[in-house]
Amino acid sequence: MIKYHSNRSEAQIARRFLALLFCGVVALSFAVAPVSAASAAHGRDTLTVGVPADRCPVFYRDADTDEIVGIGVDLMRVAAEHAGYDVTFRFVTEATLKDALDSDAYDVIMPFGSAISSTSGRSSVVSDNLTQTPFTLVTEDSRALPPLNELRVGMLRSLGGGAETVLQLFPGIEISMYETMADSVKALRDDEVDALLHNSFVWSYVLQKPAYSDLRVQPSTMFSMDFRAGTLDTPAGRTIIERLNGGIAATPETHRQAIILDHTSRRLYRYDFSDYLHQYGLILLLTALLFASLTVITVQKRRALRLEQEEKMRHLIDHDPLTGVLSLNGFRKRVETLLRTHPDTPYFLSYNNIKNFKFINDSMGMPAGDELLRFWGAKSMEALSDEEAICRIEGDHFAVLRRCGGDERMLQDETDVLDPVRNFFIDQGKDKRVQICSGVYVLTPEDYQQIHVDHMLDLARVAEKRVRDTRKDGYEIYNPGQWEKGKRVADIISHLPAALSAGEFQVCYQPQINFKTGEITGTEALCRWNHAKLGWLRPSEFIPTLEEYDLIYDLDCYVWDTVCQDLHRWNEQGKHRSVSVNLSRRDIREERNIPGHFYNLIHVYGLSADQLRIEITESAYVEDHALLIRTTVKLREFGFQVEMDDFGSGYSSLHMLKDVPVDRIKMDLQFMSETGDPEKGRIIIRHMIQMVHSLGMSLIAEGVENVTQAQFLQSCGCSEMQGFYFYKPMPVQEYESMDETVPLLAAESPSTAKQP
Ligand code: C2E
Ligand code: MG
Ligand code: MG
Repeated sequence: MIKYHSNRSEAQIARRFLALLFCGVVALSFAVAPVSAASAAHGRDTLTVGVPADRCPVFYRDADTDEIVGIGVDLMRVAAEHAGYDVTFRFVTEATLKDALDSDAYDVIMPFGSAISSTSGRSSVVSDNLTQTPFTLVTEDSRALPPLNELRVGMLRSLGGGAETVLQLFPGIEISMYETMADSVKALRDDEVDALLHNSFVWSYVLQKPAYSDLRVQPSTMFSMDFRAGTLDTPAGRTIIERLNGGIAATPETHRQAIILDHTSRRLYRYDFSDYLHQYGLILLLTALLFASLTVITVQKRRALRLEQEEKMRHLIDHDPLTGVLSLNGFRKRVETLLRTHPDTPYFLSYNNIKNFKFINDSMGMPAGDELLRFWGAKSMEALSDEEAICRIEGDHFAVLRRCGGDERMLQDETDVLDPVRNFFIDQGKDKRVQICSGVYVLTPEDYQQIHVDHMLDLARVAEKRVRDTRKDGYEIYNPGQWEKGKRVADIISHLPAALSAGEFQVCYQPQINFKTGEITGTEALCRWNHAKLGWLRPSEFIPTLEEYDLIYDLDCYVWDTVCQDLHRWNEQGKHRSVSVNLSRRDIREERNIPGHFYNLIHVYGLSADQLRIEITESAYVEDHALLIRTTVKLREFGFQVEMDDFGSGYSSLHMLKDVPVDRIKMDLQFMSETGDPEKGRIIIRHMIQMVHSLGMSLIAEGVENVTQAQFLQSCGCSEMQGFYFYKPMPVQEYESMDETVPLLAAESPSTAKQP
């Protein structure tokens, strides 16, 4: 059986049909002009022989001369010569030799194994055998072949005639025909066929292709096929064949063998691009990779070099070559960065100048002056942290950005930096004291918003000039008020950790009462600080400062823990009390998990959730509404009561009530005192109380200072109260010694307790 694997286009089929039509006409002309194929020209007839183009070394085009050459060509040329023909060769353009038989472009066609009919069905006549061509099987290296009669063989379509001969020899064989050698090899690799069959001369050429290095010729020749010329069986055709047979008979066998040897021993195969790619692909790839890597490395190196040079340039621009401290340019950038990254750090900026430096240079020499400047730079650098900066502006002018650190720090700087500089020459045994004039500018909160380094330097310089003009030496502060404030802030924030461990904080309790019954219903924990240096501090000073510098959480954790310890002790004494604790707006951050923190606390101290009431100031709800609401909901889920502190002191009170799920509202009475019309204030309070109740929340009024306020509140329906009228915040010992069993009556006199 023969199967055809074709990808020929419709155009090719149409061409074939036209060729058939043409052949019909040619056949007719043969009948009238029997010798027209061999045109008689100048005594010798010329014979046009059609040969296939894809059979190197049997038929191929010589790359140098462009002529058609090969074993078949030489054999035919010799035979034709003996037969008295001049012979020319043309490559057949038809798909198969059977097609070519139908064309009148050729007088004879070769090679044929035996006479076959043309595509149009006409019979042919063939010459005697020019030579025996061995046909061999080729398969993949490792492939084991089935018996010949069951073999699936692939052949080139142009070998159509040969395929018929093979079928006659091996009837069980299955032959698949392919357009090109590449198609047939692919079929072999895809296991469509077991082996490929072709003329072994052709194999000796084709298998030189590197991509086919895995293909092997089966050692035993499968069969030999005759190698004949053929033409249509017409009178003219028979004449040509007869004459050729004479020529073939006259060709000596030795001559034929010489022709075969000549062509098979030549190195004919020429590498094309794909062969080079196959052969040297890996090397090419590695070379390309190497080249690419080298290119990348070179580019990276150049880039690194450029960056390094830029860095060096930047360093040169940003640093003072004499002292190694920053230049003014570098100082500007550094200060901007520091203020941006540490907006909560209180800083001052100083402008420092050596008085009469010119005379030092004149009397001691320039090198000694340079040495002094280097010494000053080095000493300052030793004293400064990474969050501070120093620069030499020019000559003997240095600027320093330093954290505010209170008086001790100033003294320290005097001892560590300024005194050694002042005594620089004296320490060398020379009678010359260096005088330093400094001006200090303390940064204000606005300086962190709009950072103008030059402006700050100007202000420090103004103070420095005051010293220079009026005194020998020393420092002046441009803004002393800010300096004092800065020092106090520094004392508060820098001392907090020590204060916490030294027990400087005291938790006071301010009881809350029911005015109707006189009973104590709760108490608020309020913090007091007996600062080691500054004495008693008011919460209104240190709480906002700690909030501003984001340190309040440390204090609050301490207060909550102390309150829980007290509650635990009272529980053990059989007194089940509830305490309201304050939660700063700065405490509430997603990652802190405040509800979880309180939940842990009550478990550690064995408290019940109703013993802790959490006060969150009203304004906090405005800042991060969503987080606050989530926190509130979670706290209530754990069973804690949540109170909105200072209600009425902000701007969004009424709006807040709508969304915030708190248990109790703490109404701040203080704002009422500031309003002009007390009657209107009372109307507002009355309606506010009604509204809070209508919304299902309870209410406590804080800041109740007199009986009139208390009675008015009660008449409005608010009995829960907290204020100096009843109790002032008191230390825990005092609170514990209070007799809670005696109810405080409405008409009783106000509290006499002293606020610590
Ligand atoms: P607050 O939470 O609204 O606490 C009530 C404040 O009103 C307390 O001031 C209390 O002493 C004062 N007060 C109570 N009754 C009266 C009165 O009849 N008249 C007047 N004029 N004032 C009264 P204090 O203790 O100075 O606390 C001020 C604020 O500092 C507190 O306001 C609270 O927001 C905050 N605070 C106090 N301790 C802490 C704490 O431990 N942590 C946090 N985060 N904040 C605290
Ligand atoms: Mg409070
Ligand atoms: Mg309050």
